[in-house]
Amino acid sequence: MRISIKDMADRHVAANQKHWSHDRRTTVGASEAFLCSRRTAYSKAETAPDPDYEDRYGARVRGDLIENHFWEPAIRGQKPEGVQFLFAGREQKTLVDGYLSATSDGLLVGVAPDALAHLGVPDLGPASSDGNTLVVECKSIDPRVSLKEAKAEHSGQTQVQMGLIRHCTPYRPNFALLSYADASFLDTITEFAVAFDPAVYAAAKERARRIMLAEEPTELPPEGKIAGGEECRYCAFKHRCQGAIVTSIPRDSVPIGANALAHLKALTLQHEQADSEAETATHRREEIREQVRVLLRELGTRKVQGDGFVISWFPVKGRKSLDRKAAERAGLDLAPFEREGDSSERLTITLS
Ligand code: SF4
Repeated sequence: MRISIKDMADRHVAANQKHWSHDRRTTVGASEAFLCSRRTAYSKAETAPDPDYEDRYGARVRGDLIENHFWEPAIRGQKPEGVQFLFAGREQKTLVDGYLSATSDGLLVGVAPDALAHLGVPDLGPASSDGNTLVVECKSIDPRVSLKEAKAEHSGQTQVQMGLIRHCTPYRPNFALLSYADASFLDTITEFAVAFDPAVYAAAKERARRIMLAEEPTELPPEGKIAGGEECRYCAFKHRCQGAIVTSIPRDSVPIGANALAHLKALTLQHEQADSEAETATHRREEIREQVRVLLRELGTRKVQGDGFVISWFPVKGRKSLDRKAAERAGLDLAPFEREGDSSERLTITLS
């Protein structure tokens, strides 16, 4: 029988999945709150992942190992005298506020007001308003990633942690210490101070509410795609999401009313403006394109020709490509491994 440590590691991880007392299908977790909302909705609906999706566990296991065997014991053993370390390790708590939840990394209670002075925060606030408390957040990071500032999704996640601790416990932390341990060299730890922002917490709650109350994931905007598609590369529902977009293209071109025409013309003009503003405008451009898609869908038309502008939307057949890895394994006869990609769409918005 073949002996492979990789095989055994795979089986070990599969047999030792984390069990949560909280039903994670019923809330949006802190780490999901600022991901693509459609992706999170697919996940909450327990949608089957794409057949070719591979669930890589490496980063998840790495994070757990570092948190449980390095980060948490280091804080617990070395925190200043008189400081308590709550809601961490075996005392981790899953906190819930409406449709939003988080499993805490930890809270330090009894810290000095200047605990984050080295990070540019001279005072955490008076003890009477819980300035003696500090949320601590554990992350590990690939050393190739540049860390000039905390990653936006981690800042958002940390805001959710702080908000939920404020909501669910007697503590009202004003700051968090977000730490990144370099996954190759654990003695390289980069830290950021994060000030609590009630507006970010409120936004996370609202996002969670919209995700959990959506009847269909496709009701939610494809935010990964709008943001440029980077998140889509790791999404388990990429083909499903793309297929839903293509099949939602109206079949016909029909006359539309003056208001809709004016609206679409305005969107076309905005689209042109955005197009000329290079990289910073790219995000906005995709949002407008999505508004156009939604409107065409609502109007039931795939083509609009107005006073000086044309919009058309149609499915595009996927390109044929070769699965070269499989072909190499099998020899030089590549033809049997040809496969057809997902259908895609093309939305053109031009002034005429
Ligand atoms: S493919 Fe992209 S846009 Fe669609 S659900 Fe996944 S992350 Fe969101």
